[in-house]
Amino acid sequence: MTQNLKVQCCIVGGGPAGMMLGYLLGRAGVDTLVLEKHADFLRDFRGDTVHPSTLQIMQELGLLDDFLKQPHSELRALSIEIEDRCFQIADFSRVPTTCHFIAVMPQWDFLNFMMEKGRRFPTLKLMRSTQMTSLLETEGRVMGLQATTLDGPLEIHADLVVGCDGRTSTVREAAAFAVEDVGAPIDVLWFRLSKKPGDPEQVLGHLGRDKMLVTINRTDYWQCAYVISKGGIERVHASGLEAFKRAVVDAAKFLSDRVDELKSFDDVKLLSVSIDRLTTWSKPGLLCIGDAAHAMSPVGGVGINLAVQDAVATANILAAKLKAGTLRDRDLDRIRERRLFPTKVIQRMQVTIQNRLFPPILSGENRTLKVPWVMKLLDRTPWLQRWPAQIVGVGVRPEHVRSLEAAT
Ligand SMILES: Cc1cc2nc3c(=O)[nH]c(=O)nc-3n(C[C@H](O)[C@H](O)[C@H](O)COP(=O)(O)OP(=O)(O)OC[C@H]3O[C@@H](n4cnc5c(N)ncnc54)[C@H](O)[C@@H]3O)c2cc1C
Repeated sequence: MTQNLKVQCCIVGGGPAGMMLGYLLGRAGVDTLVLEKHADFLRDFRGDTVHPSTLQIMQELGLLDDFLKQPHSELRALSIEIEDRCFQIADFSRVPTTCHFIAVMPQWDFLNFMMEKGRRFPTLKLMRSTQMTSLLETEGRVMGLQATTLDGPLEIHADLVVGCDGRTSTVREAAAFAVEDVGAPIDVLWFRLSKKPGDPEQVLGHLGRDKMLVTINRTDYWQCAYVISKGGIERVHASGLEAFKRAVVDAAKFLSDRVDELKSFDDVKLLSVSIDRLTTWSKPGLLCIGDAAHAMSPVGGVGINLAVQDAVATANILAAKLKAGTLRDRDLDRIRERRLFPTKVIQRMQVTIQNRLFPPILSGENRTLKVPWVMKLLDRTPWLQRWPAQIVGVGVRPEHVRSLEAAT
């Protein structure tokens, strides 16, 4: 038998956008339900970076001290290694935020933290193992949605449904929103290798002839992202595991004594990368934010923070009206109006980097890589490193928490 629920706001997806929006709406006293299709947050394909802008939001919510008690490492500068030479390109020490670093923390710890902190709000509920399957629509207005749970089908009626279900969003598809494909010529091979004493301490991009590897420090192991051209997985498989391991070591020599931890291609996951955005983010009763509204590539590691910023803007604009029951259809488009510019700027940065940097690396021509002049300039001129740090760490038009906490 189908169960029924009625809430003011139903959020689809418990990623960074959905968990932050759920927290903010619960804090504002809005009757909110977050649905997450998985049973937990322990998935490996998510980024691990919590940037200064998100740490600032934590500070504004009074959560920062507790948040930084979670195991994490602090990344104070960004470096790229090209053909064995290291170039420092961003320095967070002068970014105008409380924290002058990126906190590198497994995303499941970040999401669990938001879940635990949200428990104190009586109007906020999270249902996991619950997957939205379709929207309930009457005369062009979204009235709620249908979902499957471990206990059977569920129908949820809501004043507002917010799609925070990521780059393969079911919500955006069900709403038939038009998607503008900005284009990403890469896919990523994702695997882990152990960490050893004496290893470099930072997240590092390693660029070499026809290869690019990013190593992310997850305290006791390296999360590695090896970039290939889109659809290039067949070629990697055809060349075999040994050739792949050699390519990894070519890109980052310090991994040579542990690359054999990769026993088969089962240890290497393919992650498909996309950059796109919706032309419309909302319709009556429905809004999309985060990757559901604008899929981000891993370049710059900024998607999580953009998703969090969308959530803050959404709560700032809608929370009081949702709570009072005075939300109007035209309020929803204000989120797109506010967040489109920052999204376009960051996507433009991702496209510029991928178009300038990736073709020579991914051409397979084994050419010596030319170091871009801008990288040399940044490395030689430390005060200039503040600007890339600002774009990556804070972005454009940073949001601040303005929605009020309801008396509990
Ligand atoms: C390989 C790769 C590496 C990346 N690395 C980084 C990085 O280091 N730093 C960074 O900032 N960004 C990174 N990004 C980008 C980043 O992952 C996204 O921009 C960010 O996760 C978007 O957050 P979100 O909450 O909008 O969506 P997501 O994080 O995708 O969350 C969506 C959630 O919705 C759930 N869901 C989906 N469908 C349904 C449904 N029908 N019903 C219920 N729940 C559903 C999913 O299980 C998921 O939990 C990376 C992206 C890729 C592809």
